Amino acid sequence: MIAGIDLGGTKIAASVANESGVVARARMPVPRSGDDRAIARAMLALVDDCCRQARLSSDALQAVGVAACGPFEGQAGQLASAAPNLCGGLSPESGLPNRWMRVALEAPLREALGGRPLALANDAQAALFAEHRFGVLRGVSHGAYLTWSTGIGVGLMLDGRLVRGKSGNAGHAGHSMVPSAQLLRSRCGCGNEGDVESLAGGAALARAWGGETEDLFNAYRLGESAAGGVVGCALDAIADLVYNLFVTLDLERVAIGGGLFCSHSDLLLPALRARLFESDRYPGMRGMLAGASVVAVSDPSRTAELGALCLVLPESWQPRWSAQFPAEAVAAIAA
Ligand SMILES: [Zn+2]
Repeated sequence: MIAGIDLGGTKIAASVANESGVVARARMPVPRSGDDRAIARAMLALVDDCCRQARLSSDALQAVGVAACGPFEGQAGQLASAAPNLCGGLSPESGLPNRWMRVALEAPLREALGGRPLALANDAQAALFAEHRFGVLRGVSHGAYLTWSTGIGVGLMLDGRLVRGKSGNAGHAGHSMVPSAQLLRSRCGCGNEGDVESLAGGAALARAWGGETEDLFNAYRLGESAAGGVVGCALDAIADLVYNLFVTLDLERVAIGGGLFCSHSDLLLPALRARLFESDRYPGMRGMLAGASVVAVSDPSRTAELGALCLVLPESWQPRWSAQFPAEAVAAIAA
């Protein structure tokens, strides 16, 4: 029996699974106050809840995988999250009711688990792992997973290996700078002005639109020009980021997930493909884009859940788990 925990900016989701698949799930909003171990305590309580649902003792857990929003920082030699949307101490404008500079993760979780294995990864890296094992990146050795949601993050695989980086933070490309139109120029939670997330993240879109992103996309679907300007600028920024990934890393495929993207992938995916492969936006390096593809994941919640579990999924469970995700169905999504 294994557990997976997904820590996002607004919610924590946990699941417990055996060799046949997921047997219990629980979720709750992310705690915003208390000490900087409050989130880790909530994660453990959710796992206990899952174990109760499955009528198991939490002692039966063999390993726990945690996918968490980053960036990670060391805290007394163990990984902690310094995510701007969790830590009120990082930015006075955040409005969060805490003064945390980082959220303790590895230390309290290891204490609770005793000597049992704990694997901790950035959420986009974990999602990449899930899509590589069961989803639209199956069989791809050089690929990226891009989450387009409230924030923007990337998981990278090169030569068949997950890229972690010197501090587990490889892929924070949402904070890379792009020369997109200045229409939406605003400050990102990380402090940058004009990075991809400040132009295309859900929070930035809501700010630029002056309302909910759902209203923005409704207006976009109706052809309102103001909405077209805001969404177009975001698409430019994401397309620039994807182009940069293709030419920097020589990738075969980029898979895009995240709640914002998946809710509107019928519009956003063709618009991205047109910018990347059909327009003259990028006249250079066409050869590196030849044969490359951009695809949508099927279900962002499933990707997040599988991502955390994949971090500790025993190799021997893989065949039975793979049978739940038939390759033909995945290929149809990727087409
Ligand atoms: Zn940023």
